[in-house]
Amino acid sequence: MDKLIHGTAADGTIRVMAAITAEIVREAVRRHQTSPTASAALGRVLTGTLLLGSSLKDFDRLTVRIECDGAIEGIVAETNAQGKVRGYVRNPLAESKGNTVDVKEIIGKGMFHVIREAGFDVGLYREPYHGSVPLYTGEIGDDFAYYLLKSEQIPSAVLLGVALQSEAPYIKAAGGVMLQIMPGANEHLITMIEDTIAHAPHLTKLISEGAAPEDLVKMALGIIDYEILDEREVEFKCSCSPERAAALIASLGKAEVESMLNEDKGAEMTCGFCNQTYHLDEAQLQEIIDSLSN
Ligand code: ZN
Repeated sequence: MDKLIHGTAADGTIRVMAAITAEIVREAVRRHQTSPTASAALGRVLTGTLLLGSSLKDFDRLTVRIECDGAIEGIVAETNAQGKVRGYVRNPLAESKGNTVDVKEIIGKGMFHVIREAGFDVGLYREPYHGSVPLYTGEIGDDFAYYLLKSEQIPSAVLLGVALQSEAPYIKAAGGVMLQIMPGANEHLITMIEDTIAHAPHLTKLISEGAAPEDLVKMALGIIDYEILDEREVEFKCSCSPERAAALIASLGKAEVESMLNEDKGAEMTCGFCNQTYHLDEAQLQEIIDSLSN
């Protein structure tokens, strides 16, 4: 299963997180049937969202939403504190022109939003945190870094990669690494990191060769010592279910459900996040009608 690690370096003044996400991206691509370039874009966003989520303790749900004017139109990913992630793109068939995978071309210009919601688990709903910045390059990794700098005042380095291949399972490898520089970090170390990353082998090459999350940390930090504080399994998992689909149908109201029963002889719902379709037959619709008071 895919793994996510996080840790610290330089006496806690640098936070580091890294993940290998090939299974997650394969599952997302299988569910949404995305084009190669849309797969790369979605894979980078899913990976970046997991990395961003791993540094936060006081939240239940973190959502990254890209609204853009390129062919892909938009990307949404959501993760929780349990390491589950789900996501989708608005136009799965978006493809860059020519023979190259050009993520920034299908993204175009737009906005990068982060929404953090907390308190659901314990029934204490707190006001969600919402941060937005314009897209920086549309290459996704840069956009996460730009968001962290502008919205959270955290200088960072974010490298995200998805390696594609022409045969199934199409995603050869996927992963990413994020460094966050905390207040008090030594300027000399920051320069060292910038230099290390500038001269490091390409992330996509490393993950294609079978790198583990810790290899990505080493690549980004060079000779700087680090400590891994946590390692967890992560997966593409949606929170939808037949029960939730039925509850959503019920929320439309008795008249609407009666018309579904009488006119359509059933109902169908598709979850946007995971593309799972739920069918409700006549008996199930009747059951919902019976459960709704007059
Ligand atoms: Zn779903």
